[in-house]
Amino acid sequence: HAKNCGKNNAKLYSSSLTMQIMSHVQLEVGLRKALQNDELYLLYQPQIDVSSAQIVGVEALVRWRHPERGIISPTEFIPLAEETGLIVPIGEWVLRTACQQAMAWQQMGQRPVRVAVNLSAKQFKDENLTQIVLSTLHETGLPAELLELELTEGTLMDDARATMVTLEQLRGIGVYLSIDDFGTGYSSMNYLKRFDVRALKIDRSFISGLPQDSENAAITRAIIAMAHGLKMAVVAEGVETGAQLVLLEQFGCDMAQGYYLGHPSPPESIHLMLGQQFALNGVMSGDSGRSM
Ligand code: C2E
Ligand code: MG
Ligand code: MG
Ligand code: MG
Repeated sequence: HAKNCGKNNAKLYSSSLTMQIMSHVQLEVGLRKALQNDELYLLYQPQIDVSSAQIVGVEALVRWRHPERGIISPTEFIPLAEETGLIVPIGEWVLRTACQQAMAWQQMGQRPVRVAVNLSAKQFKDENLTQIVLSTLHETGLPAELLELELTEGTLMDDARATMVTLEQLRGIGVYLSIDDFGTGYSSMNYLKRFDVRALKIDRSFISGLPQDSENAAITRAIIAMAHGLKMAVVAEGVETGAQLVLLEQFGCDMAQGYYLGHPSPPESIHLMLGQQFALNGVMSGDSGRSM
């Protein structure tokens, strides 16, 4: 009887495995067509300057509107795009679309804000990356300093020599480089010194327990102090409450991003937010007499 059970389990397991592989293959086939079928789109999440309460940038976050499965999160399809190499054309599309959108807001009369694009390790290793960035800026007319490229610690640590060359080329173009999800990867304090990166984005896992979690508070404070010592700016990710924002302001954090300040939103909503100069008045710890 026990044997039978085991067999059944094995059968169940293998059939669900088959299912997984099937859907994986189907997803891959679908992803190949997603670009040409216009199924990808970008949302933009505001990044706020903590002391002025102004939107200073937006992060482009990709979504896939699958014809049968509905909206698929990038945490599900970006790894697949990386495995299959599709991340290169997809990444190029994200870059171009984000730069075009940043210019479109300006053409509609908004003040310039930075647009941040996530780069995966594979894209960063693509030998054409610098050329793609250059031609995208040229074609869209976006000034280089308004383009932010978000890298992860893993990407930077991968191959020190090649990384150094690419980073120097990107810095030469004048784009704004930042390190995403900071504190979750393998960090070497050495590379922070060597690489000319402008900002650290503190991973939201450190922000989520604030203000109560004293260990996360200590880590957040330490990252801010270190970054400022290295003349880098700091962005807190995943800010979900006013209390978190107040604490981050006390810690001297430069910028914040999170649901409390704005969800990833379509371009029209960002256009409205940019138009509302005083949108965050009263949201901030306020009453400090600052003009917002
Ligand atoms: P990320 O770059 O760290 O982006 C931040 C993620 O946190 C986004 O998830 C965003 O929606 C979410 N988030 C923002 N504020 C809050 C908050 O207050 N609370 C919580 N719980 N979450 C918040 P999303 O859009 O699902 O993206 C997930 C990841 O997928 C991104 O993490 C990034 O690594 C990757 N990704 C997204 N778009 C692209 C892309 O165009 N290219 C590449 N290579 N990766 C992308
Ligand atoms: Mg990011
Ligand atoms: Mg992040
Ligand atoms: Mg990330």
